[in-house]
Amino acid sequence: MQSAKQEKQTLSHDIVIVGGGLVGASLGCALAPLIERYGWRVAIIEAASLPENAQDMPWQPSFDARASAIAEGSAQRFRQLGVWEAMQHEAAPIERIHISERGRLGAARLSAKELGVTALGHVIPNAWMGRVLHQQLQRLPIEWYCPAKVDQLTPQAYGHHLVLSDGSELTAALTILADGGRSGLKEQLGISSRRHSYDQTALIAHVGVSQPHQGVAYERFTAEGPIALLPLPGQAMELVWTHASGTEQARLALPDREFLQQLQNAFGDRVGRFTRVGQRYSYPLSLITAEESVRPGLAVLGNAAHALHPVAGQGFNLALRSVMDLVEALEQGAEHQRALGDMPTLLAFEQRRARDRANVIRFSDGLVRLFGYSLPLLPHARAAGLIGLNLVGPLRRGLARRAMGLER
Ligand SMILES: Cc1cc2nc3c(=O)[nH]c(=O)nc-3n(C[C@H](O)[C@H](O)[C@H](O)COP(=O)(O)OP(=O)(O)OC[C@H]3O[C@@H](n4cnc5c(N)ncnc54)[C@H](O)[C@@H]3O)c2cc1C
Repeated sequence: MQSAKQEKQTLSHDIVIVGGGLVGASLGCALAPLIERYGWRVAIIEAASLPENAQDMPWQPSFDARASAIAEGSAQRFRQLGVWEAMQHEAAPIERIHISERGRLGAARLSAKELGVTALGHVIPNAWMGRVLHQQLQRLPIEWYCPAKVDQLTPQAYGHHLVLSDGSELTAALTILADGGRSGLKEQLGISSRRHSYDQTALIAHVGVSQPHQGVAYERFTAEGPIALLPLPGQAMELVWTHASGTEQARLALPDREFLQQLQNAFGDRVGRFTRVGQRYSYPLSLITAEESVRPGLAVLGNAAHALHPVAGQGFNLALRSVMDLVEALEQGAEHQRALGDMPTLLAFEQRRARDRANVIRFSDGLVRLFGYSLPLLPHARAAGLIGLNLVGPLRRGLARRAMGLER
């Protein structure tokens, strides 16, 4: 058996990122200054193929028809990565948020103006974010293995050994698992996850609206589940319609006209008439949290570490904060001449992340539970809560700052 010292000398890479989705690609971009400063050899391994022509919209699990609500804090982080200007081409600012419950009086309103910011957040199609991040990565000295899947990930005395689907093998001092959590690699390493299925499925589609949305994002809680409408550039909105699992099938199969009619009945006419609907997709919703997010030579990021209910639009925003904190921890580790992937550095990262992660999970999960129960008195409590939120300025501003990713 090789000694740790021998292995260290024969490692093929300093850092290998497994998964080039939104999180893996953001991490690649965020590592740029450290790659330049320390000459680290970095690779990203991505299972889904990307089109040769970067102008074509790449399709892969991370960059599908969804659009994400990007908090103002995340926009600041994208600015740091040098990709915000390009991101903005297809982004719509969220100027107001309107939260209501069907059949109840209560409604909470948050506005950018009142908080003294230009936008509460931004809605950007995932496919566009993917394209911008990948174009940025092409300018960096990062190796791409794509399409290539990591089939085996084995810890060594120092770092990890990776076997790819094309038979090639790599070794890395630090491996970042950003595979979305569905590839079985976590299980291969014996990292267990806590899973709670919400028995809900999100139906996603772009919809056209007859009135200008004026930058308002709507969250409307109905007896069947929450409906979120996020502003997109032009007279279009991104629909996230949560269903009890199974009930979405009928709506996925409806002809467009009937689908739009049902949406109109459920949401009402705050945005005028729904005029058209694009292709519909569905996502089963669960809360999945990995029991460990760091080990010697390994960090788990993004959906592999935590998959959340999208009701509060926090999953990627939280992951991007982890990306930036990890890079900062690696920078401090390098300044103290610590070996890449050593535990003190990774534990410092983990300590920095734990509170934010727990808060966001509690916030998203609490919202689902609060609006998911139909106990007789609860609707009144929720309505009172929504009205109360309007009256209690500091609480609402605190909530908004958290949603904007400006507070942890
Ligand atoms: C309906 C819905 C709406 C959402 N809306 C929002 C929102 O508004 N705001 C927000 O902040 N978040 C939102 N989220 C959460 C957000 O989409 C996720 O946090 C984000 O997509 C996670 O990205 P990821 O890169 O970790 O994982 P993924 O997007 O799953 O990417 C993982 C990548 O790894 C690759 N891969 C997998 N296995 C392997 C392997 N073995 N080898 C190599 N490559 C591999 C895959 O091909 C993929 O490209 C939403 C989620 C859902 C379901």
